[in-house]
Amino acid sequence: MFGCSALSCWAQPPTKPADDRIAEAIQHVSADRIRLTIEKLVSFGNRSTISPQDEASLKAGKGIGAAREWIKAEFERYSKDCGGCLEVKTDAFTEQPGDRIKNPTEITDVYAVLRGSDPQQANRIVLVTGHYDSRNSDTFNGTDPAPGANDDGSGTAVSLECAHVLSKYKFPATIIFLTVAGEEQGLNGSKHFAQMAKQQGWKLEAVLNNDIVGGDRNPEQDAGVVRVFSEGIPNAATDAEIRRIRALGGESDSPSRELARYIADVGRTYDAGVKPLLTFRLDRFLRGGDHLSFNQQGFAAVRFTEFREDYNHQHQNVRTEKGIEYGDLPKFVDPGYIAHVTRLNAATLASLASAPAPPTNVKMLTKNLENDTALTWEPSPGASAYEVVWRATSAPDWEHVQTVPTGTRATLKVSKDNVIFGVRALDAAEPRHCSLPVVPEPER
Ligand SMILES: [Zn+2]
Repeated sequence: MFGCSALSCWAQPPTKPADDRIAEAIQHVSADRIRLTIEKLVSFGNRSTISPQDEASLKAGKGIGAAREWIKAEFERYSKDCGGCLEVKTDAFTEQPGDRIKNPTEITDVYAVLRGSDPQQANRIVLVTGHYDSRNSDTFNGTDPAPGANDDGSGTAVSLECAHVLSKYKFPATIIFLTVAGEEQGLNGSKHFAQMAKQQGWKLEAVLNNDIVGGDRNPEQDAGVVRVFSEGIPNAATDAEIRRIRALGGESDSPSRELARYIADVGRTYDAGVKPLLTFRLDRFLRGGDHLSFNQQGFAAVRFTEFREDYNHQHQNVRTEKGIEYGDLPKFVDPGYIAHVTRLNAATLASLASAPAPPTNVKMLTKNLENDTALTWEPSPGASAYEVVWRATSAPDWEHVQTVPTGTRATLKVSKDNVIFGVRALDAAEPRHCSLPVVPEPER
C-alpha cells in the first residue's frame, strides 16, 4: 500500500524494470570527481555575475570569467574522450542595468549538446542545469570570497558529471548539459536561454534544475532523499487554460508535475542512492530558481534541492561569529550525496532520451453520459505500444497501468469522473522505455 487518506487508500505506483545500460551508466558517477569539480569552482574566489571577467582575472584564475573558461574546457575535455561527441557552446549576451546589476554586464551560459543518434528523435531535447555564479552576503560584492560550494557548485557539478558519464553512450533523443550565470542577480542566464529555446521552437521536453543539492552536513539532514519541486498551475497558462484546469480538476497535472512523477518512477526503478521526495509547489518560501525561467516559457521544469538547508551556509560572507561558522564552503557539502543526486538525474535524462516522443492530440471522448472511458491519440514517432495510466483524483502518483499493444485508442471500464488519466508511449526495446504521460483533453 502506497498511502491512505480518510476515505481511500492509494495503490503502489506501477514500476518499470531497469534498463541494464542505464543502470551501468549511473554506476560511473564519481563522488571524487564531483569533489574536485566543487573545489575547483571554489578556487575562483568569487563567481558573482558582477565579478571581474577581464584578461588579467582570467589569467589569475579569479572571478566568473575564469570559472566560465574552465567549465568550457571541461566539456571540451569530455568531448575529446568520446571522439568529439559533444558540441560545446555558449549563449552570451549583455544584461542591461536592473535591480541587482548596476552596469551593463556580459552574461555567458555554457553548455554541451549530446546530439540524439536517431534522426527522427534528435530534435527532442532533455536538459540538466545548474548555476555557476555565486554570491556572499552582499549581492553587489564581486571581490570578497563567495565560495558557492553548495549554491550552486553542487548543481554545476551535477551537470558536468552527467555530461562526463552519459557522453560515453548514445541516446535516440538529444541531451543538453547546461550551466548558467546570473541566477543570483535575477535568473538572467536561464531567462535568456529559455527564451532562446522558445523562439527557436525547441522541442524541449524536460528541464532538471539542480540548485543546492550538496547535502549540507547538518544533523537534521536526511541524506536519503532529495526534494523535487514542481509547479501546479503552469506559470505560462493563459486565462483560458486556467479556466479549463479549474473545470477539469487539473491543478496537479502540469507538465512539470508529470515530469516530477516520472522522476519518482525512475527513483523506484534505479538504485540512485537517494529517493526523490515530490514537493508539490514551485519552490521554497523566499527563494526562486532557474526552473521558473523555463516554466515561464511553457516548458516542463523541476527543481532538485537537498532536504534540509542550512542558511548559515548560503549567501553568507565567510566568517566565524559567536562560535558559528558562516559561508558556503566545500567542507559543509557531501560529495557522496551529490553523486547520488547525479545518478538520479542521469537515469532520468537517459530514460527520457531513450523513450519515444509523448503521444499528441490525446482525447477523452465525452459525447455520452457513460461510466466507461474512451481515449484516442495520435501515434508518436518511434512508439511501438502505449500505456494508459490512471490514479484516484486524490492520489499523488499514478496507481494503475494498462498496456495498449496495438492501435491508438483504448476503452477502459473506469469512470472518467473518478480518476485522472494519462497516456504514454513505449519503444520496442526490452525492457521498454516510456515517455512522459499526456493528460487527455475532453472532446464532445
Ligand atoms: Zn542557487
